[in-house]
Amino acid sequence: MTITEVPVNAAPVNAPVNAPDRAPGPDECLVCFVLSRVDRDGCDNTLRWARSYRDAVALGDRGLERRLEAVGGYCDCEILVNAFVPTSVAADGDEWPDELPECGGVRHGSTVPCRHWAAVSAGRR
Ligand SMILES: [Zn+2]
Ligand SMILES: [Zn+2]
Repeated sequence: MTITEVPVNAAPVNAPVNAPDRAPGPDECLVCFVLSRVDRDGCDNTLRWARSYRDAVALGDRGLERRLEAVGGYCDCEILVNAFVPTSVAADGDEWPDELPECGGVRHGSTVPCRHWAAVSAGRR
C-alpha cells in the first residue's frame, strides 16, 4: 500500500469557509441548529451537533440525549426524521419544503424546538 502524498499547500481556493465550531445563534433553536449543521457537515451517526448545541447554550441539560433517543433521535439526522419534522410536513404530510423559514427563535438556554417544528410522536398513535 502506498500513501498518497498530499501537498501541504493544496487547499482549494474556493473552499467554503469552514466553521466547524459555529455556535448557535443567540435564539436559534436546537433543531434548526442541528439541521443547518447536518446540512453542511453531515451526520456522523452520533448526536454531536445536538451535544454541541447543548454545550453552547444549555450546559446543564444532561437529559437531552436521553430525551432525543426516547423519540428515535439516536443521531443528528434521525432527530430530523424521527423526532421533529417541519410543521407543514406534520400538518399535511407534505414533502419537506425546499427551504425552511428562519428559525422562529427560542429562549436562550432552552432545548425545545422553535415553532417551525412539530414532534413526530405527537401525530402518531
Ligand atoms: Zn445520522
Ligand atoms: Zn428553530
